Amino acid sequence: MAQIAFLGLGNMGGPMAKNLIAAGHTLAVFDLVPEACAALAAEGASVATSALDAVSEADVIISMLPAGKHVASTFLGESGLLAQVPTDTLILDASTIDATTAREVGEAAAKLGIDFMDTPVSGGVAAATAGTLAFMCGGSEPAFERARVILAGMGSAEKIFHAGPAGAGQVAKAANNMLLAIHMIGTCEALAMGEAHGLDPAVLSNIMKASSGNNWSLQVYNPWPDVMEGVPSSNQYRPGFMVDLMVKDLGLACEVAESCDLDNQMGKQAMATFSSHQAQGNGDRDFSSIVEWVKAQH
Ligand code: NAD
Repeated sequence: MAQIAFLGLGNMGGPMAKNLIAAGHTLAVFDLVPEACAALAAEGASVATSALDAVSEADVIISMLPAGKHVASTFLGESGLLAQVPTDTLILDASTIDATTAREVGEAAAKLGIDFMDTPVSGGVAAATAGTLAFMCGGSEPAFERARVILAGMGSAEKIFHAGPAGAGQVAKAANNMLLAIHMIGTCEALAMGEAHGLDPAVLSNIMKASSGNNWSLQVYNPWPDVMEGVPSSNQYRPGFMVDLMVKDLGLACEVAESCDLDNQMGKQAMATFSSHQAQGNGDRDFSSIVEWVKAQH
């Protein structure tokens, strides 16, 4: 079992850290919000006074932070953690950030002989709580072998993927969420068109699930209210994967596309659609509420 420093105990990091304790690891935790640390102390973690304090005895560092600038300031520079930790430390950044920063931190770590991987997740708060997250990892093969056993404490073993070198995890995450946004909007348009012609959205959903339009949104996350139990669309689109986070991820995906000169027209359209929905006061609602935006286009 490992001595783990966990940095960033928000909606995702909190339950992830809790699952690592349940898996038998010893945790030192740090967050800028004292209440978030206190919640983990109640689970058996020791609370550190700074990121540097948290990593003082760590074999493994895991970060779950809001954006690239937080990851860069935590790890890079003279006072960053890369300059302070032993070279046999394994660092896993599970935050969703821009691929450029992930590559930059990965390359800086590699120069020092430190194993660093970008390990963004798919699954949201429910999967973080249940310990069933998917991980998409960027870094070296030996680092991935070390990471796999730790990540299994927070996710499903069969959903831990080695995407490629540093930054590849973030590229995979951006690609996945761009596709998710596009097929969610497409699913909403198909259902809205059918309903406007008098079809029952539940019946149309079953037809498309058994046909070539079948996709994840139809299978497990139907956006139409009351077609499926236990999903955000049957609970006023709360809780869930927030529109604000989808807009963030689409922005990252558009950056990834631009950096390889790909004109990602569908991704850009999805970005415009979700941004418009966000601007109408829906930022804190589940992203499947985009069905309301689609229906309003009559
Ligand atoms: P959050 O805002 O709830 O949590 C972030 C935490 O990081 C906060 O508690 C904040 O105080 C802390 N923090 C900020 N800067 C820090 C620093 N320098 N040192 C220590 N702690 C610091 O965000 P979240 O929903 O937990 O998301 C975390 C990451 O996971 C983001 O990159 C997000 O895009 C990604 N993500 C979120 C979801 C989701 O459904 N919420 C799903 C997949 C991926």
